[in-house]
Amino acid sequence: MSEKSEKIISDPWSKPADEVLDYYQVSKNEGLNEEEAKQRQLKYGLNKLRKVKEKSRWAILANQFKSLLIALMAIASVLSFIFGKWLEGISISAVLIINAIIGFVTETRAVRSMEALQEMTKIDAKVRRRGEIEKITAEKIIPGDIVALESGDIVPADLRIIEASKLQADESALTGESMPVSKKTEPLEAEVPLAERKNMLYKGTYVTRGTAEAVVVSTGMDTELGKISESIEEAEEEKTPLEKRLDKLAQKLIPLLFAIASIVAIAGIIRGMDIFLMIETSIALAVATVPEGLPIVATLALARGMWRMAQQNALVNRLSSVETLGSTNIICTDKTGTLTENRMTVHKYSMDTSEVNVSGTGLNTQGGFLKNGETVDVTGDEVLRRSLEVGVLCNNASYERGDEEKTIVGDPMEVSLLVAGLKAKIDRDKLLKSMPEVREVSFDPAVKMMATYHRVDDSYTVAVKGAPEEVIEACTHILTNREGKELPEEEKKKWLEKNNQMAENGFRVLALAVKEVENPEADPYKDLTFLGLVGMIDPPRQEVKPAIKTCQKAGIRIIMVTGDHAATARNVAYSVGLIDSENAEVVQGSELKDHKELSEKEKERFIKAPIFARVNPENKLDLIEIHQADGSIVAMTGDGVNDAPALKKADIGVAMGQRGTQVAREAADMVLQDDNFSTTTKAVEQGRIIFRNIRKFIVYLFSCNISELLVIFLASLIGFTLPLLPLQILFLNVVNDIFPAFALGAGEGSGGIMDLPPRDPDEPVLTREHWTGIGAYGILISIAALGAFILSSIWFGMFINGAPNYRVVTISFLTLAFAQLWHVFNMRDIGSNFLKNEITINRYIWVALIICTILLFAATYLPVLSTVLKTVNPGVNGWLLIIGMSLVPWGIGQIWKEIK
Ligand code: ADP
Ligand code: MG
Repeated sequence: MSEKSEKIISDPWSKPADEVLDYYQVSKNEGLNEEEAKQRQLKYGLNKLRKVKEKSRWAILANQFKSLLIALMAIASVLSFIFGKWLEGISISAVLIINAIIGFVTETRAVRSMEALQEMTKIDAKVRRRGEIEKITAEKIIPGDIVALESGDIVPADLRIIEASKLQADESALTGESMPVSKKTEPLEAEVPLAERKNMLYKGTYVTRGTAEAVVVSTGMDTELGKISESIEEAEEEKTPLEKRLDKLAQKLIPLLFAIASIVAIAGIIRGMDIFLMIETSIALAVATVPEGLPIVATLALARGMWRMAQQNALVNRLSSVETLGSTNIICTDKTGTLTENRMTVHKYSMDTSEVNVSGTGLNTQGGFLKNGETVDVTGDEVLRRSLEVGVLCNNASYERGDEEKTIVGDPMEVSLLVAGLKAKIDRDKLLKSMPEVREVSFDPAVKMMATYHRVDDSYTVAVKGAPEEVIEACTHILTNREGKELPEEEKKKWLEKNNQMAENGFRVLALAVKEVENPEADPYKDLTFLGLVGMIDPPRQEVKPAIKTCQKAGIRIIMVTGDHAATARNVAYSVGLIDSENAEVVQGSELKDHKELSEKEKERFIKAPIFARVNPENKLDLIEIHQADGSIVAMTGDGVNDAPALKKADIGVAMGQRGTQVAREAADMVLQDDNFSTTTKAVEQGRIIFRNIRKFIVYLFSCNISELLVIFLASLIGFTLPLLPLQILFLNVVNDIFPAFALGAGEGSGGIMDLPPRDPDEPVLTREHWTGIGAYGILISIAALGAFILSSIWFGMFINGAPNYRVVTISFLTLAFAQLWHVFNMRDIGSNFLKNEITINRYIWVALIICTILLFAATYLPVLSTVLKTVNPGVNGWLLIIGMSLVPWGIGQIWKEIK
């Protein structure tokens, strides 16, 4: 710690920015170069807080030997050696090692894929390297880097601000102060406390407004956040609810299975069977049936699911979300950019003097202004010209200079206003030269307006744009030709009516207004002069309509939650098929309140409503609560800084990868990299498939395990010799449990899953129905194996010279093994096609079956293995019996599926 700190500037806030830059030997415009960056990285290390627990190979390997089952097997092998059974002892040790290897490989894969996924969701930072702004992962930032920040960005390290424009930061994470703090660049006293260091930005806080360039003064554990977190212990890995439930299930089963295994041993011993054999058998049974590896296999399935989602542009931040996605039954989605393309074009200006249509498409600046089909001269139409100017001035989009042409970047709505300006040769940069901007009151989704102040000679022009209801309310006058006249209430109503009309036609409508003030501190939203309404078109996304259909079939309700006008919202909702009548109910965001204060009637109305308009970020919280109180699992989209609380509150917070701020992305459970609604649907589908797969392999494993228990149990009750030898049990445990179960876990579904309603989130992993199935299949398989055992003993005799007839034992062993293999086909869904279902189209299943069959043949015919397993050639008749009997549970299972 001390060694590092020496290289770090002390009290950077008390020094001029230039001095800090000098200290770190960096120029503001150039930044560091790659060479220096590399050097410094070695010196300062990565910009990380406490080391996230990275599991080493050895730790994972050691984990395998901490298990109860391994201990049991160790006991069994020691016992074997003591009883002088070398072959057994060595074989059990081999199984022990194989088991450990399998556990090791599984866990390594799960851990590594989790780490890789975490890598993908890391936040980037914009730094200046060799004069260019580049995106790098925040971890690679080093002292001396010049970082660029804008509103919604998370501060990646401790920074001394060099340049700030309207900068504000939320530092509540560090100081507890909930109001955003305004920032500046001038040096301060060395003694000022952290909360007042206005020229600094600290790691872990975020920018709520404005933009900044700043130089990194400290990183990682040297940051203020690092100093606090030093005392905090390494974060324990969070287990997902599913893993916890599986853990619990396994813990519950252990005593039960142990009890059964002991009863088997005792019953056998009382019947006069070999003591050592019975002890070994019961240990083998315990090893084979205790589902210790279940949670890790489930984790692997979830991690695989996360990968598959990531490939489909849905980045999931938390493993547990994969599971939650599968039971989501309400998706609250915003409109602009998610359901629509977010590629806006201004089509119409509606003013007191005239109504003007704008021609041209997209971002192309070719186009003209038409009134009744005739071209309008913009310079001759004062109101139109001023409307265009206000749209261009009150604007945060900017030109980006390319070689030839200027491209415009920023909020698509603002971009469209710049494009409209260019169609009339009104250029923002030129206009700003004669009317420099001195102040901006940023757009606030709660106020739904924005204003900029521009100096013109000795006074200031305030340019305002925003939601028409708000802007019109703030106006007292209206501009007609060259003069303003009063705007009485009834006139306002007419304009609101006009606004409604335009919105009903699918336009996104904005109102424009101006005023002149002497003092730039004057309130922006008072005594304004109304200019007119602008209508823009934002086409719906093509893929959304089918995605909404899919959701409706899948029992998931889509609710539109937008800041836009009710009529625009309804129009878009209708065009994407979210509602089927254009008169669908729309609730205003302002009507929402705490769900505990709602009357029954209100509650019902809010729960049913498909559209919420003019919603602000706080309303989203109420809406989530209302639905959650109703027992729903709610997904909610959001992109702004203010959306973070709603994203956290929702069961699945969904942020936009392109449009969303870093703050929103970090608060979210899932990030849509393509900002596209239909990606959510795909993620939900994956979530469902994964959960179903996990269920399938649990049911499969349990029914197989029970069959093994039952075969031995029933046989020893009746007093037969053992139809299954201990090593055979262990062999089955490795072969049959691993391959088909993994294959079931890796299934990709058959497409029909989105025709079913969402899973009830309170439903246990295994329902009563599943347990019944497990029991029934277990009994069927064990009866088949016992049946083969009895039939073959009748034919071939159970004993030869007093020793068990190993041919008979081989037949029952193989019958059980193959019955378990065919049993995977019983894992198909009820109602699925007999030939073509999610099991038969899963190529892993076929691979697993082939591998297992080969291994079973090896067990029978490969010299060493057959000696160890005491198997002998069953002969043609034996094989016929094996095949016939092993198909019985499959046949009954399939018939039952068809009847159901
Ligand atoms: P949406 O759900 O359509 O994205 P927003 O919350 O972004 O809605 O915006 C709500 C309303 O606020 C918009 O319909 C528009 O009237 C107004 N608005 C949005 N962005 C701006 C802006 N940059 N400046 C002024 N007004 C805006
Ligand atoms: Mg928006």
